[in-house]
Amino acid sequence: MLLNGIAAVLFDLDDTLIDSVRGKSIAEKIIADILASYIHNLGIAVDKEILLCELLLIDQMMNRRRLYDRSIWWQSLVGRLNLKVALPRHLVIEMTKAYWSYFGTYSLPFPDTAITLDSLLMRGYRLGMVTDTDGTPGVKMHRISQLSFKRAFSTIVIAGEDTVKTKPSVFPFKLAASRLGLSCAECVFVGDKPFTDIRGAKKAGMKSILIRRGIWESEEQPDFTVSSLSELCRFL
Ligand SMILES: [Mg+2]
Repeated sequence: MLLNGIAAVLFDLDDTLIDSVRGKSIAEKIIADILASYIHNLGIAVDKEILLCELLLIDQMMNRRRLYDRSIWWQSLVGRLNLKVALPRHLVIEMTKAYWSYFGTYSLPFPDTAITLDSLLMRGYRLGMVTDTDGTPGVKMHRISQLSFKRAFSTIVIAGEDTVKTKPSVFPFKLAASRLGLSCAECVFVGDKPFTDIRGAKKAGMKSILIRRGIWESEEQPDFTVSSLSELCRFL
């Protein structure tokens, strides 16, 4: 019991509660297929492997810049390939729809997600989620509505839709706490990205726990670091 005075545990979604690695990889391959075939039909040769590598770089870059609207990603991808091609609006919409459909279908909860959430509820904690918009309004909540553990949450804030700004703005964190009728000091936030989850939670006055899922360079220091959700029971 290292965290005292905590009444609610708030979570990030992607790569914290659900494993997005497979979903993202399959979604990106679909995008590469759609785009390669469109460009090929224009009579331009394109290497699908290079296209996929560039897409991975764009993913890193856009996440760092917190630009989540995939429609912007696809045109940037064409630009990085040095192609003078303007993607038609209907294709951009179709690509974004396909991306999120595959992303959602193949991004499953981690093996310890449901059991950890149940265990926290049984200990009397209230649960909340603070997750950034997917860039297209409604997409993130649609993805969440398909997750079996959604019912465990007393409140879900989609930053960038329920609030103007995304994480690390303090507003989505403060909104989640106020919806629970709690102060930020009574909440602990669990997330995988130091520069959005940990930075925002700390600025808002919450305790913070970093879950190590990948490598994100950052100087932001959480109160604690774990490598799995089940480890949370060490602190709560
Ligand atoms: Mg995340």
